[in-house]
Amino acid sequence: TNTAVFVTLMLPAVYWLLLPARFRSVATAGISGSAVMLASYVSGRSEAFTILGLLLVMLILNGALALAVVRSNRLSRLEWAARESERRAKQELADSRHALQRMLMCVPVPLLIVSKDDGRLVHANEAAVEFLGDHPDDMGLRFLSDLRADLSKPVRSLAAEEDAPQRFEGTIRVADGTTRDVLVAARVLKIDGVENVLVAGVDITDRKLLERRLEHLATTDSLTGLANRAGFFAAAEREIAATRRSNEHAALLMVDMDHFKEINDTYGHETGDAVLRSFARLCRRLLRSHDIIGRIGGEEFAILLPRMDMAGARGRAERLRSGAEKLRFRGRAAELCVTASIGVAQVGAGEKGLAGALSRADRALYSAKRAGRNRVASAQEALHLSEVA
Ligand code: GH3
Ligand code: MG
Ligand code: MG
Repeated sequence: TNTAVFVTLMLPAVYWLLLPARFRSVATAGISGSAVMLASYVSGRSEAFTILGLLLVMLILNGALALAVVRSNRLSRLEWAARESERRAKQELADSRHALQRMLMCVPVPLLIVSKDDGRLVHANEAAVEFLGDHPDDMGLRFLSDLRADLSKPVRSLAAEEDAPQRFEGTIRVADGTTRDVLVAARVLKIDGVENVLVAGVDITDRKLLERRLEHLATTDSLTGLANRAGFFAAAEREIAATRRSNEHAALLMVDMDHFKEINDTYGHETGDAVLRSFARLCRRLLRSHDIIGRIGGEEFAILLPRMDMAGARGRAERLRSGAEKLRFRGRAAELCVTASIGVAQVGAGEKGLAGALSRADRALYSAKRAGRNRVASAQEALHLSEVA
């Protein structure tokens, strides 16, 4: 009957199209369904044409259905592959963002992320929190400038120029109220489409301290604590440059202890040292805090008196001279009387440097020595004396 033919044709089609299984099972089910249907339909009949016709129809039907299923399988495989690769790309992006965040967080260098627009602190990593001694939020730090102004300025100018990376030194305030010297490197960094500045800091407090100590050692006389020769020359040249800029004058004193070799020979080198220390203390006591005092040779001192005229300078020199006379020492040196000769020179407003005044003061000192020691002589007198001679 027609219904029997319809069922014979439809059942394999149902297997092909609706069985949610692997291709091989679907094909097996479809083809064997066709074979069984065909066999039961033709059993007992003998019309060869009908059997042949049905066989052909079955073959074509199975072939067409196989093609349709293969095709649809391929399409869904492609779709699945596309979805899968998108998912993987998203995962990789999320992974690398996470890795970057973790790296920023646990890299052992203090890092701050600062908004490029207004210098607001966006993020601080673990090392930065440890370095600051607390979390910036808990310290009430909202902007980079809250750390200390000298850091935020170059970072802001960097943000304006976008010329990264830049390095500069600065000082910042930490949670316990102390300050730390830092070497800072900053660079503009785009994070999630927003422009920020990544600020990395290295603690150079110890290095700075060492530098200052070395500088102090290199410019200080260990016996008296005054500036040594190098320290005096550097400080005096700076002061003379400032004096020239403000069109003022200064005065220079050169002091040499009298018969110092004799003091050493008679009372010993240690007493000689004690004399030098006492004279240094006397200088500090009698002079102003901004006067520059140096021990520039064995028993020679140089003193620069900023904004001082000749009369004033002579007055100071005289007080030093009489002060030296009054220095007293203990023990065997109780009867020791120390004297000093002092040469005074003016440092003119237009003076280029220390050299000219130094040689004039030296000549004045020499004339004080020649005139009998324990006295003050000025460059003017020295000139007069040499003319007379
Ligand atoms: P004058 O009155 O002509 O200046 O005679 P003087 O003996 O002071 O001059 P001189 O330059 O001949 O001697 C300076 C002495 O100072 C020689 C040196 O042994 C001594 N001297 C230099 N440096 C030191 C020091 O650091 N400590 C001590 N105790 N003596 C020093
Ligand atoms: Mg001398
Ligand atoms: Mg001397």
